[in-house]
Amino acid sequence: MIPSLRTLPSVDRLVADPRLADTSHPLVVAAARVVLERARVAIRDARDPGDLVEATLAELEAAARPSLRRVLNASGVLIHTNLGRAPLAQAALDRVVEVGGNYSNLEYDLDAGARGSRQAHLAVLLREIIGGEASLVVNNNAAAVMLALAALAEGREVLVSRGELIEIGDGFRIPDVLARSGARLVEVGTTNRTRAADYERAIGPNTAIILRVHQANFRVVGFTEQPALGELAAIAKKAGLPLVDDLGSGALTAIGDESTAADSLSAGTDLVCFSGDKLLGGPQAGILVGRADLIERLRRHPLQRALRADKLTLAALEGTLALALDPARARAEIPVLRMLDEPIASVRARAERLAGLVGGEVEETVARAGGGALPLAELPSFACAIEESLFDPLRLGEPPVVGIVRDGRLLLDVRALTDGEVDEVAAAVVAAQMDCRDR
Ligand SMILES: *Cc1c(COP(=O)(O)O)cnc(C)c1O
Repeated sequence: MIPSLRTLPSVDRLVADPRLADTSHPLVVAAARVVLERARVAIRDARDPGDLVEATLAELEAAARPSLRRVLNASGVLIHTNLGRAPLAQAALDRVVEVGGNYSNLEYDLDAGARGSRQAHLAVLLREIIGGEASLVVNNNAAAVMLALAALAEGREVLVSRGELIEIGDGFRIPDVLARSGARLVEVGTTNRTRAADYERAIGPNTAIILRVHQANFRVVGFTEQPALGELAAIAKKAGLPLVDDLGSGALTAIGDESTAADSLSAGTDLVCFSGDKLLGGPQAGILVGRADLIERLRRHPLQRALRADKLTLAALEGTLALALDPARARAEIPVLRMLDEPIASVRARAERLAGLVGGEVEETVARAGGGALPLAELPSFACAIEESLFDPLRLGEPPVVGIVRDGRLLLDVRALTDGEVDEVAAAVVAAQMDCRDR
């Protein structure tokens, strides 16, 4: 039977219930208000509002849970933009705990006993791994592109191939970023074919830089042409213009068809920028490496102060780059690289173990690098297929499990899950299956 509105208790009476009075939670009154309001709506809709005390306790529990939470990624997308992109290596996390939990020499030169630069801490590692004379780290690669354009081309022209006027996702469009930076876009060539001569013809007295943008999340195939980076570098050099290369994902060693920052610099680019949390597998950051005079212009630009990376990012990046010094160690310890590199036999074994634990079927799948990196690379993978109806309960559980619904079933791809996480996914699936059966 649906109770009437008049039988609903007051907030005071509800929180005086012994089950709630004992909690003495600072949010108990707020939770009771929410529950009573929901109960009023339910009664008006002729629905049973249920046990109000239980509902208030559940509301308190939900309020106590952090909003930003760990998720088990069973989507098969390794650098999942919606799921926090790259998980950090343990060595990077250790650096965050040490630097974040204490005072540090962030801007203090211990040798000189005087003010130092936060940018000094990564300079040696970046030069060792990538080359280039100098470096600068900002919040993300979008900020790196913005800063480079503002500092090097404000009020002047930037040449970009029409084949590279990309949108990366969530509205980050190269033409818009260019406009915001105060630079003027000069489009060169056509969507599918741009030649070296097109750039040469477009260079004028107002040209500030040539910008090359990596076709991050797509490829143009068929009747296509883009000048090689070395060719572009020769044109820029002849005209006395800097060549800036937005690489997008920052692979430090060659992965698939992604070129590395070191390749870009040896081809003759003057400044290269890339993300810290795509194929580098570190924290979200934008890393700029190249000519010292150009980096200095970026460093002195007022936007730099607004865009520079904070100490937690720098600490995590230093930890990640220290691993990257040794490619074998990087592949073993940086999660994104480990997942990209894992032999298919052990991925399959993990899917079989999960299927055995929950009574699902093993299915061949294709995993993806994600994050706009390696768009055409198909990583062979395996999933455990279970009932589609478990998609919601698994996503809403603790810890949440995010899989993919396909052809009426829920696929739990195991390439982005560790062995330990497979046990957690199995426990979550078994609990959800029992819940569904009880209902
Ligand atoms: C991803 C990407 C960006 C933006 O990098 P964020 O780290 O996401 O800010 C810029 N340019 C290219 C080519 C990219 O692939």
